[in-house]
Formats: sequence, C-alpha cells, structure tokens
Amino acid sequence: METDTSARALHLLQTVFGYPAFRGQQGQIVEHVGNGGDALVLMPTGGGKSLCYQIPAMIRDGVGVVVSPLIALMQDQVDALAEVGVRAAFLNSTQSYEEAARIERLVRTNQIDLLYVAPERLLTQRCFDLLQDSQIALFAIDEAHCVSQWGHDFRPEYIKLSVLHEQFPNVPRIALTATADQLTRDEIIHRLALNDAAQFVSSFDRPNIRYQIVEKTNGRKQLLDFITTEHAGDCGIVYCLSRKKVEETAEFLNEHGVRAMAYHAGMEHAKRADNQARFLREENIVMVATIAFGMGIDKPDVRFVCHLDLPKSIEGYYQETGRAGRDGMPASAWMSYGLQDVVLQRRMIDESEADENFKRVLSTKLDSMLGLCETLSCRRVRLLEYFGEPATPCGNCDTCLIPPVSFDGTVPVQKLLSAIYRCDQRFAAGHVIDVLRGAESERILTWHHDKLSVFGIGADRSEQEWRAILRQVIALGLVTVDHEQFSSLKLTDAARPVLKGGQKVQLRQYQKPVKQKRSSSAP
Ligand code: ADP
Ligand code: ZN
Repeated sequence: METDTSARALHLLQTVFGYPAFRGQQGQIVEHVGNGGDALVLMPTGGGKSLCYQIPAMIRDGVGVVVSPLIALMQDQVDALAEVGVRAAFLNSTQSYEEAARIERLVRTNQIDLLYVAPERLLTQRCFDLLQDSQIALFAIDEAHCVSQWGHDFRPEYIKLSVLHEQFPNVPRIALTATADQLTRDEIIHRLALNDAAQFVSSFDRPNIRYQIVEKTNGRKQLLDFITTEHAGDCGIVYCLSRKKVEETAEFLNEHGVRAMAYHAGMEHAKRADNQARFLREENIVMVATIAFGMGIDKPDVRFVCHLDLPKSIEGYYQETGRAGRDGMPASAWMSYGLQDVVLQRRMIDESEADENFKRVLSTKLDSMLGLCETLSCRRVRLLEYFGEPATPCGNCDTCLIPPVSFDGTVPVQKLLSAIYRCDQRFAAGHVIDVLRGAESERILTWHHDKLSVFGIGADRSEQEWRAILRQVIALGLVTVDHEQFSSLKLTDAARPVLKGGQKVQLRQYQKPVKQKRSSSAP
C-alpha cells in the first residue's frame, strides 16, 4: 500500500508535472497525506508546497478541496493545472451563479481533482451541502498562518475552519504555511485541531539570498544607489509602510530611470490587478508596494526585495524577502532603517486599539526584529534561530562580508541618558542631540539649555552618530518615546543601572555608508 502510493506519486510528478524528483520533504509528505494522514507543513516560500496537496488529491478518490485566501490567484492556479491536464476549478465570489452551479455539478459527479475555495465561501451552507454530497479526497488549508491572530495576515474565517474536522472526521487535512515561528505553529495546531498531525518542518534557509540592513540616511537615495549599482535591469519588489510612500517612491524611481509601478490596497481594483499582471509578465520592472502585495505571487526571477521601512516582525520580513530568488539564483534582501522607524513602529503599537496582552506580543515581535537589525553577528544565524533552526555564519550577509565594529558604548550612552534626564524628559530626539552637541539653537537658548552641565559634552560625535546610538538605546529598551507628549524621550527603569554605572553597553559602530562591492562568486 505504502510503496504503491509513493510509486504512483513519483509517476504523477514525472508524467504530469514534468519534474524528475521530489524536492526536500515533498515525497514523504505526499506519501503521508496520500495514505490518509493529517499533516502540518512548514516550508519556506518557493519550497514547493503546492505539490504536497496536489499529488495526494490526485492519488486519492474524490476531489481535493483547497482552502485559500488568494482569490485573485485562483484563476492562474487553475489555468496552470489545466495546462498539464489536471481537472481543477475554483469557487469564489468573482463568479456568476451559473458558473458556480456548473462547477458544483462537476464536483458532485466526481469530475474534478482539485477545487480551490475561498474560506468565506467554504463556510456557507450551500458549500457544506455540496461537500456532503461529494467524495472528498482531502482538505488542504493553504496559508494556514492566516489563522493566527498575531500575524499580519489574520483572517477571522480561518478560525472557523475547525468545523472541517468535526463535519468530515475521516477526510485527511494538510495545513501549509511559510510562516513558522513557534507561536504561529502552536496556534495553527490548536485552532485547526491538528494535534495528531505529522509535522514536516523544512529548513527555512534560503542560502542564495544575501541579507543587508543599512542605516537610513536618505532612504530613497540609498535605495536608488542599491538598485542601480547592484541590480540594474533586474526585477524586484520594494516594500514601504504607507500608501503615500509607495506612490512617491515609485515616482521617484521612475524619474531616475528605474521602471517602477505601485501597488497598495487603496488603488482601484483594476489598476492593481493590471500592475500585478505586468509584474508577473515583464522583466526589468520594480514593484513598489505595501505588504498587501505578494502573498502567493510566484515569480521565480525576482532578484531583490527591499524594505524602505522597518517591518513589524521577523515573520513578515522573512516572508517578504523570501519572494526573492525563488529560482535559486543569487538574490538580495536589502533594508534601510533608522531611528524614525523604531519610533514609528513603537508608536503604532502604543496607539493601537489592541489589549495589553496583544500589545505585549507585538512589542516582543518588534524587539526581535530590532535585534536582527542591530546584531553584531550573522543575519542568517539570527533569522534561522528565530525559527528554531540552528545555523552557522553564512558568509553571504552584510555582517559576514563586512563585520560590523562594536565598541564599549557605556560612556556615550551615559551622556545621552543624562542629557535626556537634564532636559526633564520633556524633549524630542533633535533637541536632546543639539544639547549634546552644543548647538546654540534658538530653542536651546530659550530654554537656557546651554547652561546645562551636559551641554556640549557630546560635541565629538556627529548628529548621525548620536541618532545611531539613540536608536540602539531605544531598541535596547533604555529609553522610550512618549507620543502623547511631542515625542519626548523618557528613561525607563532599565536605564538606571547604566546611568549609575556598573552596567556596560556594547554598541554597534556607526559606519558611514559605503558602497558594497558585489562579489562575483555565487554562494
Ligand atoms: P510555495 O507554494 O511553497 O511557495 P510552489 O509550490 O509555488 O512553492 O513551488 C515553487 C516553485 O518550485 C514552482 O515553480 C514549482 O513548479 C517548483 N517546484 C516545486 N516542486 C518541484 C520539484 N520537485 N522539482 C522541481 N521544481 C519544483
Ligand atoms: Zn551571515
């Protein structure tokens, strides 16, 4: 029985999909689900999740029902399957009643191998009736992390998918995701009642992606430099936090000779769909987008993914950067981040409507992200450790290629903390740095801050250096920014042991941005 399944699976892989062999754990997963087992599959973007349910659905009798939130991509997925002769169809809100009725007839008469359904559709009585009348090979729950309330892709309907198990206890279920931190993993298992499912955790390493995180001085300009020196003519994605910034950045790139388009949820639907189609079709094009763009996009030759703003979490960052280099060829993940990013993200958490518990989770996630940005060791090691995967320095990230210099920052940090304290914790970053550097601004004179003992004690460092120190101090949790009070800087309890002496602080040396030569050897 078992060997029979794997022989049939391999046969389908080769004759239908045209691939010589299974990749990674695909073979084991296909065999397990093909034989009726439940599975939780954690595999990075581009790892080959689709075949893990497509082939078992073909091996088993009946229709394989694929739950997916990606309505916009269902047509493409179905077309791609039809091309290789797999009988696939979808049911979602974009269809006419007649078309849906036609598909339903085909499902009832067992003439469909794979049926893609949006979760809100699946949960209707009409769909349940259909499934009760039909033979079901399996349920595949794609993008299963959408069940996680902590994630940025949360879909409330996903939580209700637990009814599948209750209503169809004998149908195997396979949940798949590219997001794999422990919290999300536990939540998927719990919410979808997958306690007894076999877990298949692939390596999340993407060795062909080179990670780079630079200090933001002039983000757009740095981005342009990066694209023109390292990726001229390549296809890429640039993520920005706001819609406005998406528009501005796309325009800026176009003005400077980089072909760019915009994508965000505020755009007209047709325009958005159009830009997405162009991105998939064309070469030498850059998509500037909010994180609304990208889930399910399968374009193998995306050579770079840039973040102009700090992402909220490592999961988000890793998923977004994972869209680069799906073809396995060298690709880049580049990010610029600065003090403002830290301040802004903290503010978004503080000002969100979420309850305290939720805020705490968001805050922990942000801290991990900041830890990645400020790390003195290999970025990849940090990333993989976050996903619970041991790793050794990779030789293909900025900190491996140009090791950052660290220094004992205790004295400058003490100066900074004192300046914040002497300014009564009522002033924002710019002012405090002016005080440290001994600038005789009007504001300083008005407040007589030139008379403070800390005035000018940091004149030996540039404003940029002080910003870098402040950023790290905020990342370390020694200082917070009070958004209710003109973004004034405040000391936390953690600042005390540093101020009073005793506790040392190791900092990352501010490095003037230097152009990084692209090494010719592929990883
Ligand atoms: P994911 O859903 O995990 O992001 P996909 O299922 O879209 O990944 O697969 C990513 C790419 O890898 C696709 O282009 C797919 O055709 C290809 N692929 C998947 N499995 C194999 C395999 N065994 N051999 C060769 N290519 C594969
Ligand atoms: Zn490295």
